[in-house]
Amino acid sequence: MTEIGTVGTVGTTVLGYPRIGPDRELKRALERYWAHEIDQVALLETGRELRERTWRDLAAAGLDSIPAGTFSHYDHVLDTAELFGALPARFTGLGLSPLDTCFAAARGGQDAPALEMTKWFDTNYHYLVPELGPDTTFTLAGTKPLDEYREAKALGIETRPVLVGPVTFLLLAKSTTAGFRPLDLLDTLLPRYVDLLHRLHAAGADWVQLDEPAFAADRTEAELNALIRAYHWLGKETGRPKLLVTGSFGHLGRALGVLARAPIEALAVDLAGDESFVDAVATEPALRDKEVLAGVVDGRNVWRTDPDRALGRAATLLGVAKSVSVATSCSLLHVPYDVEREHGLHPRLRGWLAFARQKVDEVVLLGRALRGEDVDLSPARQAVADRAAAAELVDEQVRARLETADVTARPPYVERAKAQQAALGLPLLPTTTIGSFPQTADVRKARAAHRAGRLDDAGYEAAMRAEIERVVRLQEDLGLDVLVHGEPERNDMVQYFAEQLAGFAVTTQGWVQSYGSRCVRPPILYGDVSRPAPMTVPWTRHAQSLTAKPVKGMLTGPVTILAWSFVRDDQPLADTARQVALAVRDEVSDLEATGIRIIQVDEPALRELLPLRRSGHDGYLRWAVSAFRLATSGVADATQIHTHLCYSEFGEVLSAIDALDADVTSIEAARSKMEVLTGLAGFGRGVGPGVYDIHSPRVPDAGEIAALVRTALGAVPAGRVWVNPDCGLKTRGYREVEPALENLVAAVREVRAGLA
Ligand code: GLN
Ligand code: ZN
Repeated sequence: MTEIGTVGTVGTTVLGYPRIGPDRELKRALERYWAHEIDQVALLETGRELRERTWRDLAAAGLDSIPAGTFSHYDHVLDTAELFGALPARFTGLGLSPLDTCFAAARGGQDAPALEMTKWFDTNYHYLVPELGPDTTFTLAGTKPLDEYREAKALGIETRPVLVGPVTFLLLAKSTTAGFRPLDLLDTLLPRYVDLLHRLHAAGADWVQLDEPAFAADRTEAELNALIRAYHWLGKETGRPKLLVTGSFGHLGRALGVLARAPIEALAVDLAGDESFVDAVATEPALRDKEVLAGVVDGRNVWRTDPDRALGRAATLLGVAKSVSVATSCSLLHVPYDVEREHGLHPRLRGWLAFARQKVDEVVLLGRALRGEDVDLSPARQAVADRAAAAELVDEQVRARLETADVTARPPYVERAKAQQAALGLPLLPTTTIGSFPQTADVRKARAAHRAGRLDDAGYEAAMRAEIERVVRLQEDLGLDVLVHGEPERNDMVQYFAEQLAGFAVTTQGWVQSYGSRCVRPPILYGDVSRPAPMTVPWTRHAQSLTAKPVKGMLTGPVTILAWSFVRDDQPLADTARQVALAVRDEVSDLEATGIRIIQVDEPALRELLPLRRSGHDGYLRWAVSAFRLATSGVADATQIHTHLCYSEFGEVLSAIDALDADVTSIEAARSKMEVLTGLAGFGRGVGPGVYDIHSPRVPDAGEIAALVRTALGAVPAGRVWVNPDCGLKTRGYREVEPALENLVAAVREVRAGLA
């Protein structure tokens, strides 16, 4: 007999909540703290206020269980490393407070390069990668989970502390030593989790949540065995809180059976997506002694939940699990705070949306419905039906065009390269940048004033044109070979395009944390996509008119536009990608027609959308590559297509990057000392491994850059090597960028001289 949300269960809950603040209060406080404008007391107070507001909101909404500990000043994986005393000595030896030690690890310093940062599964959140080695020892060094539990309790709110699970923590870490696996540290880490569980229990915590999202990806036998070992170890402890283990971001595969058999009390599963996983959970006999939290409210997208579909899925667990409750599929970290704050959205579209706050209400409502309470589901049903029936979503012209649209075959690279060299006449080891130049306070002010109506179109245009001119002159003075216009007009590389494409809506308050204090406002792709008018042509044409050197046109690719938007879920992503690709293709063609001879189509998110499980890779890569090629293949042989990728593990997708067939591929490589080159060497086309880590305020000297260029030349013939920074420069200041680019050009001159 299945119970539903009764005493002793977790009951309805969300697995986590946004933490940056509805008005990005945390971002502002962090930046002021780093600029020494406020002290640590003020920063901590901002965090405390945000936590209090969240807990009070969640309690008032009527959730049965409220998470605590999902707050972080920077990143929850970093917090976990700090909690267990596992930050590298280059940071702990700085003699800083625990918080400043974390910030040093996140942001680096002149002599202590930051921890690596990488994508959190297939989301657009980035975590800091712990560095663990054979001599790592764990201690329960911090008290954050306890402090936050007690802080909520003092407000009269009982919470459920949330921790990164031990196996996921180790799997996310990077080994400092060849041949060593962080997972081998499991037996030394688990006793520290036990200590923490005991302390939380002593403080009164009834439940603790342990997140194990790493099991949404393919895992080896050894990794599954580690999961078995970890939860037998923790589960067998006495004097501990009840354990809720969560899997997010898709099918748990064999980990479902492992967790179902583990001596834990509850399991949360992502039931918002993959139908086959719903079947797997519904037929897992070992769940009969577990509470299952049915994650039927999608924590990663912004559409209102279809109540009948959600309840149908949750109901399949009745009779299977000991008890069933409703939850989100993952933390709500990945969606904005509140739709009610959006006043600019079309009211009909707004009615189709649910942000974090609305998703909490959905969980509460669905939880009641599952219990058989008499709740009114009709507004939810109506919203879903209204969206399904909306004729505005369909653009017959776009659909007709897609019937016949196809990738155009380009001649082999050698032929193209000849035509391009004849047209461009570039020197050996051409130098360039990835597109954006520092976004100065003046540029930001002009954009804000324009948006607020304080600066008219003509004034704004004049300001941007002046900035473009400044950036072009600077690049000429520096002696770069291929120039860019600098992207001053772009608030964001996806939003800028979304604002101009049909089928997209943009929000004003829909901020989502990307990493640390950095937030993005993902646009909402709700309908068929097309490009009503050129989006970048006037700016690029202006830049080209100022110089005899080639100016590289700068576009965001279709896959990245999808990856960094909230996308419609009513048609396959591959179909949506083709629509976006056609819009980009139109822009490419207009840039070419206006005399731009090099066009870069950025796809930094190519890796990010890669399905977590290998079984999904081929299908995804096929449509992703063909979308890029649909966008870029319509050009003349002499027009050079560049692409750019960064800040991901590219090993697995190298052959897809190759298949993009770009004439030049620039890729972030400086932090890893050009590790990626081994893979790129076989491309047979131009490659530009980054020689300057733009995430660090550090200015590389010419010798260091020259050494990296020589490393590149060891792997790739000189005729195919380009020299560029790791990524765009918009987050840096001119004080760092000018000397860095000067050193880059000097380094290339030195290497060229050696080659001649
Ligand atoms: N062209 C973009 C820029 O320079 C690329 C940014 C990115 O790769 N994330 O800002
Ligand atoms: Zn980049």
